[in-house]
Amino acid sequence: MELKIQDNKLIITKGEKEKGFYASRMAWGDAESRLLYNIKKLLNKPDCIIFPLDHKKQKITWLKKRMWKDGHMVDEQEQYLRSTKPFTFLGKAPVYICLHNIHWAIRGIDTDFNEGEAKLQIDLVPVCKPELNRNKPEAIYEQSKKNMSAIDEQLGINKVKNSYPDGVCPDCGEDIPDFVNEGEECSNCSHVFTEEHLEIKKSQ
Ligand SMILES: [Zn+2]
Repeated sequence: MELKIQDNKLIITKGEKEKGFYASRMAWGDAESRLLYNIKKLLNKPDCIIFPLDHKKQKITWLKKRMWKDGHMVDEQEQYLRSTKPFTFLGKAPVYICLHNIHWAIRGIDTDFNEGEAKLQIDLVPVCKPELNRNKPEAIYEQSKKNMSAIDEQLGINKVKNSYPDGVCPDCGEDIPDFVNEGEECSNCSHVFTEEHLEIKKSQ
């Protein structure tokens, strides 16, 4: 097995006489899990210097983990390789480096590897918060709401404000601030803004 980086992908090439990875039972992701384990083992060898960071005496060490345990909203079986430590680039918020199969839902990378070559996407993920796990759905909901409104703000979408006629508070007529989040209150009359208020009214 050989590893190299090409653009934002880790390319895993199968040796000519190397054995492939096949599911030992009817378990979705089983063969991919064993392949990921072997890639991790190779990446963690002291002489495996392939990421730019590896050269700077900051050699990345990798772990294999179920993604949902890091708070990612994916299938429970889905796993990835992630750096054990976060890194800080250009003074920005610390991020973990992760390697994952972008077509997991339809095809394991074991299948690609058995045919000769597999790819893992290299991504940076924000510091994984231990409080974000499936036992705390409300924390995940809060986090994704924040993420969605950050995306809306970047795209200039005023989702909540735009769902109110003329962009004004229905109770007091005050202008609704730009990029207000669902659940925030009108500073004038404490009306709680929601994105679905029109549908709720219709169904009442
Ligand atoms: Zn108001």
